[in-house]
Amino acid sequence: MNRHAKGYKEIENQLGGALLSRLVKKFGGTSVADIDSIINIADRVANTVSEGHKLVVVVSAMGSMTDELIRLVRNVGKCSDAREYDAAISAGEQISSAILSAALRNRGVPARSFLGLQVPIKTDGQHGNARIIRIGTKQLHDCMERGEVPVVAGFQGVSPDGSITTLGRGGSDVTAVALAAALNVDRCDIHTDVSGVYTADPHVVPQARQLETISFDEMMELASSGARVLHIRSVELAKNFKIKVRVASSFNNNPGTLIVSENEVVEKQTVSAISSSHDEAKITLFGLVDGASAAARVFEPLAEANINVDMIVQNLSVEGNEASVTFTVPRGDLNYALETLENLKTQVGYESVAHDAGIAKVSAIGVGMRSHAGVAQQMFSALASKGIAIEAISTSEIKISVLIPEAYTELAVRTLHEAYELHNRK
Ligand code: ADP
Ligand code: ASP
Ligand code: MG
Repeated sequence: MNRHAKGYKEIENQLGGALLSRLVKKFGGTSVADIDSIINIADRVANTVSEGHKLVVVVSAMGSMTDELIRLVRNVGKCSDAREYDAAISAGEQISSAILSAALRNRGVPARSFLGLQVPIKTDGQHGNARIIRIGTKQLHDCMERGEVPVVAGFQGVSPDGSITTLGRGGSDVTAVALAAALNVDRCDIHTDVSGVYTADPHVVPQARQLETISFDEMMELASSGARVLHIRSVELAKNFKIKVRVASSFNNNPGTLIVSENEVVEKQTVSAISSSHDEAKITLFGLVDGASAAARVFEPLAEANINVDMIVQNLSVEGNEASVTFTVPRGDLNYALETLENLKTQVGYESVAHDAGIAKVSAIGVGMRSHAGVAQQMFSALASKGIAIEAISTSEIKISVLIPEAYTELAVRTLHEAYELHNRK
């Protein structure tokens, strides 16, 4: 069912589209991957400025530069110094912000680059995944007053002790939305290599359809289940501070996708999108004694070790005296989780442990699930029809996720996309 409650234009006008004058625009890594791309972005920014809009620009590092910087730091050996790690991996954004600023000046548009610490974007001291605490706006306001375009390096901030911090992978989205909130602008545009938010990753499902709107809650579930197109904390910030966020292309002028509150969603579908994530690994503990208290004994030490457990399946013997537990942890934490469990083997009280990193989580997301039954059943039947075994299931009010063998990820995403009739029929 596809009920068009409101047209895009109507919603955009309602959101102040016709009067927009102050915008934050963020350009992601693929949009500034090389000099030609940066010149393209400079042209786009120049056009927007010439239309009379006031802009603050946020950029990510060029292409895969952050990956390369991470590889470089790791090549030194196990880098245990989180401060130096952040100082190194934040360097990509320093380069792209300066080059875009130079490209703008070359084009006759006055612009100035800003590092996180120059803004300043003040964060806590949690290196690698810092949270923004406060943003000083004076420097940016002064810059705009002078008629210049601030070009802010995304992904970075400064800790209370003056060290450079980074905001977590994909964190330039967080920089952009946080700046939009601090500067109280009319809208935050996240420009990327696709034309908006789709019913599935368009690089995996060519028939995926671009959505005109998606609700904050659906976008948060999508972001947390592998969709990548927006960082989850940027969506949280947008929801909390009521920031109008639009995801749109860096290369064309399509209107993109607006993230809106639920009552403003244009396409009301039971399932809005399918996503997949390869970020998890599975651990199974066999022969847990005293089945009744097994879960508490397993998950307490993992929580204390700050390991995020996602999906959980527990099998209890009929007598209740023995159990096995299967659960997922972030793939990067697998070894640490195994070590933690090994060190506490007697305390946890298990016989043996198995693990598997060759798994994927596939999710169906939609606010319509709240009022429609049978969504899970449809998922299970569709996957069964392709012989895809489900290893674990988890649900929230608006999401169903299944754990499957990684090799079947793309098949599962395409199968579900078709089963829920999300294919573009144009
Ligand atoms: P950027 O470098 O611009 O921040 P990202 O790579 O972080 O871009 O995010 C954009 C990518 O997100 C797209 O290229 C696409 O492959 C992926 N993606 C995954 N799911 C979706 C979805 N539902 N809609 C749009 N893009 C998606
Ligand atoms: N360059 C950083 C990363 O690759 C931040 C970002 O792209 O948003 O994670
Ligand atoms: Mg990104």
